[in-house]
Amino acid sequence: MQLVTFERRGPDAEDAEPGALHSMGDLGFDSLEPSTTGMRRLGAVIGAGPDAASVVDLNRALALKLAADDVGAPEAEADSLLPTDALSFLRDGSRALDAARSALAFAVDALDRYDAPDVRRAGVVEPRGSVRLCAPVPRPGKVVGVARNYPAHAAERGAAAPEEPVLFLKASSAVIGPEDEIRLPAASRQVDFEGELAVVIGRSMREVDTERALEHVAGYCVANDVTARDFQGQRGQHFIGKSCDGFAPLGPALVTADEVSDPQDLELRTTLSGELMQSGRTKEMLFPVAEILAFASRLMTLEPGDVVLTGTPSGVGAARRPPRFLRDGDVVEVAIERLGRLRSHVRSGVRPEREPQIGR
Ligand code: ZN
Repeated sequence: MQLVTFERRGPDAEDAEPGALHSMGDLGFDSLEPSTTGMRRLGAVIGAGPDAASVVDLNRALALKLAADDVGAPEAEADSLLPTDALSFLRDGSRALDAARSALAFAVDALDRYDAPDVRRAGVVEPRGSVRLCAPVPRPGKVVGVARNYPAHAAERGAAAPEEPVLFLKASSAVIGPEDEIRLPAASRQVDFEGELAVVIGRSMREVDTERALEHVAGYCVANDVTARDFQGQRGQHFIGKSCDGFAPLGPALVTADEVSDPQDLELRTTLSGELMQSGRTKEMLFPVAEILAFASRLMTLEPGDVVLTGTPSGVGAARRPPRFLRDGDVVEVAIERLGRLRSHVRSGVRPEREPQIGR
């Protein structure tokens, strides 16, 4: 499944008219409340067929299914089985995942069986254009990064390949979605990109062996580990250099682990305003995903919804001659096989009249 967190665009009235719901009254669908805009909801992307790329509101689809099955209080029941926010959903584990699968299957089937426009008006299926995608996990408990995990990247940064995974923390407030802009902070002149495979934890893990580590993965998504090189390097401010607002674009969807047979066999490409900057395969990782997770889990509990960024291949802007940092108007796109494309527009931050003198 491709799980997304989304918000509906546009006024409620267009999304769900009471009349549209009542027209499906035979099935008990009229018991549903009209959909709401601006609220984050958990969805799944329809992968194929005439409605490909449409987004199913999973909680709503389940409520509809329960109503069709004559279950009493279908909405309350759906709320208890299938949370609408990604973190609660991941914490609920396989029970919620099973509910999501059956809700998605029901919605796809309903598009065939019933009047498809009504299903859409009931807010169960939304065309891609009528929703705004947020990060698949909008506010993870923590975002853990791995430094120099691709030998060629370590070399281009003039560093030795590490002997164990070098972990760092990235503020979870840096996370943005696939439709958000990367705002360049006025305090940095060297904001760089790092295309990366992101791992989302599904089951709490503490002291887990490498052999069993992947059993704790909910799925994978594309990430850009945006980095202010001037803070990371010369100033020794690694945390700040990794954690400015907007420095962790994630998306477009959380692709569940069952659809990624081998996370070490994925192609990754980063383009900057149309120019190919990074091209690598995840098999080049010095420490594969399972080893990173096992190593981290011996030192800290990885919790559902935690995101682990697994390092970047060579080709970052700082290593180029001349260096190529992000500029206002750039479009940076990270694409990973099976996981999709994460496309971010780059904009200048609001520049103060005087240059900030942080730490100087
Ligand atoms: Zn990185």
